[in-house]
Amino acid sequence: MQRVVLKFGGTSVGIASHFAGAQALVLSRAKLDAKPPIVVVSALTGVTNLLVDYAALPGRRAALATQVAGRHASFASEIGVGVAPIETLLAEWHERTASHSTAAALPPAERDHVLAFGERLSAALFAAGLRARGAAATAVLAGDAGLVTDERFGAAHPLPESAALLAQSLGARGDIAVVTGFLGRTADGRVTTLGRGGSDYSAALVGAAVSADEIQIWTDTSGMLSADPRIVPEARPVAHLSFAEASELAYFGAKVLHPKTLLPAIERGIAVRILNTARPDDPGSRITATADPSADSWRVKSIASKKRVTAVTIVSTRMLLAHGFLARVFEVFGRHHLVVDLVTTSEVSISVTLDDTSRLDDALAELEGIGRVEVREGLAVVAVVGEGAPARLGLAGHVFTLLGGVGIGVEMISQGASRVNLSFVVREDDADRTVRLLHRGLGLDAEVGERSAAN
Ligand code: ADP
Ligand code: ASP
Ligand code: MG
Repeated sequence: MQRVVLKFGGTSVGIASHFAGAQALVLSRAKLDAKPPIVVVSALTGVTNLLVDYAALPGRRAALATQVAGRHASFASEIGVGVAPIETLLAEWHERTASHSTAAALPPAERDHVLAFGERLSAALFAAGLRARGAAATAVLAGDAGLVTDERFGAAHPLPESAALLAQSLGARGDIAVVTGFLGRTADGRVTTLGRGGSDYSAALVGAAVSADEIQIWTDTSGMLSADPRIVPEARPVAHLSFAEASELAYFGAKVLHPKTLLPAIERGIAVRILNTARPDDPGSRITATADPSADSWRVKSIASKKRVTAVTIVSTRMLLAHGFLARVFEVFGRHHLVVDLVTTSEVSISVTLDDTSRLDDALAELEGIGRVEVREGLAVVAVVGEGAPARLGLAGHVFTLLGGVGIGVEMISQGASRVNLSFVVREDDADRTVRLLHRGLGLDAEVGERSAAN
């Protein structure tokens, strides 16, 4: 291949044995390919959580500041590079933290500045490790490389010009750039973050910008699995997924991939692979534009679930044949930036699910002017995903018979809108056993493994 972008997540860079494996992978890539690989790194595992607490909990600030510094210093010696490569950054950290009051949570821009230390420190350590192994490598702040964003601190969007800027600064480098994941920068130079888990997205933005042959997401599972392994320990890797399948899974809770990751890859048709740093010879998952060509491609591949979902139902007797009702309802959601996941309608009502309800209260007052509003919290969306699966005769019947058999009530069903996803809502308390039941009931524990071997 010409060029590969390799992204290493928190466990890959934050555990000494995996760190060494990650470094070896980058070095062997450098030997194979025409152009040096580009590396994107997350903060060491757990560090972003510490920094989030630091920003939110003034009372614990002093202790957390010390903990963050100590963690990096001891990791630096554990991986054998010593503290020298991060000395300047640690001094900056001490200076910055000394300037914070211990009275209030940090405002959003300052919070992003604090979170950025995680990726800045890990990029510095990763680049130092590569240099110690004889490679030419430089830590690069994503903002310096051209990843410019809007000013939505905490959930910033890249600006369209960032692609050309990234291509210009990273495209022709002769050394290995180790780019900070998760971070961007406003036009006036303030650091932003792309949302939790956003390093995957950074890697895809970089990969698309430099027209990489492949974007590799190196993590702690051997690919996208048939379910979340924390819920279904026997979940198996899925060998191949289409962009549509993987996007749905990421959106509905498969944390292994940030939901926005595939957008840049789809635009440029670049394959994404999910691979295990601790088991680099495992084939992992390959995600491409095309669905499986095989005849049995309609099979369910994976089940995802998203908790802390709220359903809002608006009932209006006036809806009966009243045009404009749905438009009015969605106009209210749109104006309040409420993202709707599932929608079901009847003649007199509409129900939607939301996972971010931080702006719901304002919208509710307006919705009450349209109809009677009912809000139900504590729900979960379960998504059964496989290209063509929802259209498969009997899948829905099979799924709901399995659930009915053990008394799991289904609150809302959204079928038919997507060719890859049968999704429905259950009570949050029932979500895990629903996923486990379907994983077994739909034969995923056996079939996915066999299909992996065949693909
Ligand atoms: P990284 O630090 O490498 O970005 P993450 O913790 O963000 O890693 O994502 C990997 C984790 O995602 C896995 O360890 C697993 O617990 C979780 N996960 C949830 N659903 C899935 C799935 N379908 N396949 C693989 N991993 C999943
Ligand atoms: N370190 C960031 C987080 O924990 C970004 C990432 O891991 O992708 O959210
Ligand atoms: Mg992640």
